[in-house]
This record gives sequence, structure tokens and C-alpha cells, in this order.
Amino acid sequence: MIWYPYEQMKTMKQPYKIVDAKGVYLYTEDQKLIDSVSSWWCMIHGYKHPELTEAIKTQADHFSHVMLGGLTHDPVLKLSEKLESFLPGDLDYCFFSDSGSVAVEVALKMALQFNTNRGSNRDTVLALEHAYHGDTFKAMEVGDDEDYHFAFEEKKGVVHIPTEISALEDAFHKYHDKLTCFIVEPLLQGAGGMRMYDISFLQRARELCDQYDVLLIFDEVATGFGRTGYRFVADEVLPDILVLGKALTGGYIGHAVTVANHKVFNGFYSDDDRHALMHGPTFMGNALACAVALKSIELFERDNYMEKIKNIESIMRREMDGFTDPRIKEVRIMGGCVCIEVYDSADIEGFQDFAYRRGVFSRPFLKYMYAMVPYIIQEKELVQILDTMKAWFFN
Ligand SMILES: *Cc1c(COP(=O)(O)O)cnc(C)c1O
Repeated sequence: MIWYPYEQMKTMKQPYKIVDAKGVYLYTEDQKLIDSVSSWWCMIHGYKHPELTEAIKTQADHFSHVMLGGLTHDPVLKLSEKLESFLPGDLDYCFFSDSGSVAVEVALKMALQFNTNRGSNRDTVLALEHAYHGDTFKAMEVGDDEDYHFAFEEKKGVVHIPTEISALEDAFHKYHDKLTCFIVEPLLQGAGGMRMYDISFLQRARELCDQYDVLLIFDEVATGFGRTGYRFVADEVLPDILVLGKALTGGYIGHAVTVANHKVFNGFYSDDDRHALMHGPTFMGNALACAVALKSIELFERDNYMEKIKNIESIMRREMDGFTDPRIKEVRIMGGCVCIEVYDSADIEGFQDFAYRRGVFSRPFLKYMYAMVPYIIQEKELVQILDTMKAWFFN
């Protein structure tokens, strides 16, 4: 029997059973649904994309996987080379892993050991309130979402601040000689409730990190590949470590990467074996994942996805313009993400089934009804999603 995620199994509603998927559509036995969630935000090119499927098949004809311990292969070499040129600044060193949470763990380990290797005893991580960085233990500690992690309350060596410049400056003044790193989901905090904040906060964070020699980590597992309307937020403000996951493979196979700049890499590069990074997931650099990631990035550039995302954002703004309801606290839009936050979670209970009947798959949580659409979505499909969200409140 399957143990489903984030569910009280005793009261869980039956999941919809998917029998096929193509483009933006999921198919059940009796319904065709636009996936407004992009399978947890990763499926940016939609399902059954012929070129992505082909990339996997072609690689599978050679080999599906070999370990990266003592071995290497073309797909992983090509992907790391591609990322080196595709990503901004001197973010050039790619450490692969099998999921976003693990890639965050790797980023935090890098930051902690970077300091140990240079003989510093700094041990504290600065993070944001309402942060979500994954479900593994250290990722949970730097996270701040009691709705996910309330069962593990104890926080060691992590300071959480709101996304306000004054709080940021206070934290640096108070803790700078203890801080190894500052980790953020830049501009858009996803699982914490699609919270959006201003780039000036990140610009100030970069200055303070430089001033006090603290590493800046961008967890772009969710925001990477255009979700905020920027290709990467790292294009605007350059972090020392960048974490990518979710859309890295176009959503076709779970894979992630922690990308370090030269400063971080050089902190490990020495004649001392004990300065090496001791981490190595079994499936890191998986050949199928690397092959499909390469093809995904090729499509992203070739088919001008940034233009598609701009268009999605402008349709969302047009359709949601002036839309209000007494139950709604705020409507937020950024890039390929729209969120309606209500005052009371009871006000969106039942929305999932309502949307299902209207041909939309949605997965609202807590007080948030949202869409993170596949970028290949057509205008009428996007309007159908937005109309469904609005119709709930007219109901
Ligand atoms: C989803 C997510 C993660 C975790 O990724 P997994 O692949 O689910 O482990 C980490 N950080 C952010 C910002 C995410 O949205």
C-alpha cells in the first residue's frame, strides 16, 4: 500500500488516478484536466514532449546509469559544461544529486565546511521566516514553516528573519561573526505560501554578505528556469551557491544540482584530503536525468521561454485585474505564478473537486489557492484556470 505525502492517511481523500498525460493535460478515466500545478512546479514543457521522451530513450539505449564515483560519462560532462555557460557569473562547479532537498543539504554542508576548512568556527545559518527548503532534517531546520515541520520544533544554529531590510541589517550586526551563510528562496517563497518580496532585499543581502564574508545561497529549486519572470533570480543578484531542482529535467526525472562559485570551490581545493566534500548520492549525475536536462535547457532557449512566461504573467494580470472578494486577503502574481490568499482556509475547502468538474487540476493548501502553470500553456487554457479560480468565489 502507498503511504501518500503530507496526508493523514486515515482521512485522506482518494487521489485522482492518472491514466495518461500530454501537453498541459492529465487524463483520468473520465476527465481531462489542465494541470495548473505542473506536477509540483517542475513540468515546464508539459507532458509527453516528443523531444524530451526521445532524449531519454536514446540515452537508455546506451546506459541508464553509472555511478559518478571513479566514473564519468558524456551526459554529465555535457550538462555541467552547459550549466557553466548557461548560469551567471562564476557559478561553475556542479554537484549533482537526486532531489532538491538533498541539493539544499549539500549547499549547507558546503557553506559549513567552507568555514571549517579555513579554520573558522562560525556555525550559524541565517534564513527567512516562512522559508521552505525541503523535508530532510537540515533543510527543515533552515525552513520555517510550522505547517510542514511543527513536529520537529527544535532549531539549532538557525536565525530566521522577515524579508525586511531593517531586520536583515539587524541580523548582520548582531550575528555576523557567527554566520556561515544566508539561505533564501529568492523573490518567491513557494511552499511557505507564494510570498513575494522585492529585489532590493536581495541586493542589500549581497552587500552585507560581502561586507561580513558570509556566503549567500539561493535556493532556486522552485524559482529557477523562469518561474519569477527572471530566468534565474541569480541573473540579477549573484549568489555564491545556487541550488536547482524541479524544472532542471523539465520534470521528467528527479534530479538537482548545487552549483558553487570559484570562491567556494577553492575553499575545498587543497592538498589536505580532509578538505574534500564528503557527499555522494548513489544516483548523482544519472545519465537519463542529465540527457533530459540538456534537452530541456535546449528547448528553454530555442523556443524563447522567457517570452512565453512574460505572456503568461500579462494574461494573469489582465484576467485578475480588479478581482476581489471579502474572503480574499490578497491576489499575488509574479512570472508564471498566481496566488489567491484567503483569510480563512475553510473558504477554499472543496475547491479541488470544484476545479476537477471544470477540467482543472488544482492542489490548494492552507490559505492558498494558486497556479504554477506549464510554460507551454495556451491562452484559452490559462484563462480556463483563472476563470475556475474566480468562479469559486462567485459560487
Ligand atoms: C520543492 C523544493 C525543495 C525540495 O525539493 P525536493 O526535490 O522535493 O526534495 C527545496 N527548496 C524549494 C524552494 C522547493 O520548492
